[in-house]
Amino acid sequence: MNDRPPRPQRAEPREIVELKELKTTQPELASAVDMQVALVDMQRRVQSRVPLPWFQADPEWLRAQQAAGRPLVRFTDIPLDWTDFRLTFRQTADILRRFDALDSAEHQQIVALARDGNALQPLVERWYAATSGVDGADPRQRAPEGAPPNLDQVLVLAMRPFLARCAEVLMQRAELATWQHGHCPCCGWEPEFAVIVPTGERRLICGRCLAQWGFGAFTCPFCANDDRALITSFATRDGRYRVYACDVCRRYLKAYDARHASRPVMVSVDAIATLPLDAAAMQRGYVG
Ligand SMILES: [Zn+2]
Ligand SMILES: [Zn+2]
Repeated sequence: MNDRPPRPQRAEPREIVELKELKTTQPELASAVDMQVALVDMQRRVQSRVPLPWFQADPEWLRAQQAAGRPLVRFTDIPLDWTDFRLTFRQTADILRRFDALDSAEHQQIVALARDGNALQPLVERWYAATSGVDGADPRQRAPEGAPPNLDQVLVLAMRPFLARCAEVLMQRAELATWQHGHCPCCGWEPEFAVIVPTGERRLICGRCLAQWGFGAFTCPFCANDDRALITSFATRDGRYRVYACDVCRRYLKAYDARHASRPVMVSVDAIATLPLDAAAMQRGYVG
């Protein structure tokens, strides 16, 4: 019974390969790359276990949400298994701690939340309601007052494998093509990155669920300023990346220019490759 051929080694995912290559070409990013590899690896494992959600919302409700500029994923739509989420939340905090993105006191506070059987679930539900605006709350509210300062970041990363499944399903629906807001049509979060596609159109990419949607190339997604003279834009020397900075609200967004690129955008890779651009934008007085 032992004559079966050995199982072939599974090839490394493309984003891990690209991240490791980045470490060779830009050794100063090594620590940021290592943390990203750990996060991506963990999120991929979780996401492979998360079932695709089934959206049963009626078309009338969808239309009303769209008209009000509210996102489409309600908390109850998210295929969230609490045991799995608790583990993901804990592992995310551990990875951030390992790379000094969380100090030890804050890490302990966050891990204690995961351990307390009654604390985490209502906290996550309230946080999603407040930050998605799906029920009409102001989406600019973040973690509850008195919470550890990096709780937001841990929640965003830990929710991603579950919310990304929702985005996968919703992105195939026609409704998203008509969305014209600066926040995510699926989960209401802000864009974290953008891609300039071969037609020249700019698509924004959600910082929480990774959904993509089209948006005016020279409109600020954070304050809707569309005065071209008040958007400062600059590219890297190789033309691969671009920054759009708003001179009204002072926020900026980075983009991957896919028009002459050899691969599609990969946020997990491109966000790290462009860390020097963040420094350049901040030096000019803009905020991420
Ligand atoms: Zn989103
Ligand atoms: Zn702005």
